[in-house]
Amino acid sequence: SQAAEPITLEDLPLRDDLRGRAPYGAPQLEVPVALNTNENPYPPSAALAAALARNVEEAAAGLNRYPDRDATRLRADLAGYLGHGLDGRRVWAANGSNEILQQILQAFGGPGRTAMGFEPSYSMHPVISRVTCTEWTPVERSGGDFDIDPRTAVQAVRRNRPDVVFLTSPNNPTGTALPLETVAAVAEAAPGMVVVDEAYAEFRREGTPSALTLLEDHPRLIVSRTMSKAFALAGARVGYLAAHPAVIDALQLVRLPYHLSAVTQVVAATALEFADELLGQVKQLRQERDALVEWLRANGFAVAASDANFVLFGDFGDRSAIWRGLLERGILVREVGPPHMLRVTVGTAAEMSRFREALLQVSAEHP
Ligand code: PMP
Repeated sequence: SQAAEPITLEDLPLRDDLRGRAPYGAPQLEVPVALNTNENPYPPSAALAAALARNVEEAAAGLNRYPDRDATRLRADLAGYLGHGLDGRRVWAANGSNEILQQILQAFGGPGRTAMGFEPSYSMHPVISRVTCTEWTPVERSGGDFDIDPRTAVQAVRRNRPDVVFLTSPNNPTGTALPLETVAAVAEAAPGMVVVDEAYAEFRREGTPSALTLLEDHPRLIVSRTMSKAFALAGARVGYLAAHPAVIDALQLVRLPYHLSAVTQVVAATALEFADELLGQVKQLRQERDALVEWLRANGFAVAASDANFVLFGDFGDRSAIWRGLLERGILVREVGPPHMLRVTVGTAAEMSRFREALLQVSAEHP
């Protein structure tokens, strides 16, 4: 018998368009202060953890059965949370908003179709586009402070006629929220679907409305949300969207049957019952964010105004050196976005004070 040859990825009949690609992934390093993936630093409270355990135990007794394929209760609960007159027929849920975005592209993108986004923005938009064989058309954010100039955006949409447009607001990694007029202008010009990725919606500053208010007048608009950030539930993988019921009919054609486990559904519904408590922590994080922006400015750093739970800051001649210096002090931030800047997630007050102290030391070493 022949000894098995070691097989590598090169030897497999992988799709040509995936050859040479690297998997997505921020480094998952064990560090004392992890400020690199825009997670919520507050773990579930003892009361929430106990409610989760109770409700999961109850669900466990029925795990021989498939879950509610349409996640009816969860979608109604999510609609109640969103308000704006929404109901469960206008809300859809999946395993993280990444799966939501993938289902959108499976239904509305695909071979021969194109998706457009305004960069720098969330790097998974082009990745999910590629994986669904949707051609990606990047457009530069040309407004000041990483804003999208509405005239440029409308022109780009009219010129390219994309099947799907992504508007991320607040934007990752810049923190920039879009005025509703920009979203409305793009929605009016777009021939296809417009997705407003509002993963960080709850962290917006006062006076920045959500695109949810535009849904009624724009049947091809989708607002995507997640429980990973404000609801501190990144480990549970729950994303959702609000859109016209016909959009949800379209997503039903591409979703896998029973895609959202019974455990996930009950965990998400339980966390929603604790919305007040969780949103209280969001308020604290917003204050911490505003204080961080102020401190960075006062200390001579360049900072993008942020409506999210992270801040993009610089300017560094060698940002990798700053990134490494922070890591040596136990603080992990993200090397992402414009080449002279770094992104830091807003953590607890104690974590941010360690970050500020370390940053002053490291930036003095690399003037
Ligand atoms: N959209 C944006 C803009 C994000 O930054 C993220 C997470 N980093 C996601 C979507 C996906 O989050 P999740 O799949 O955890 O919902």
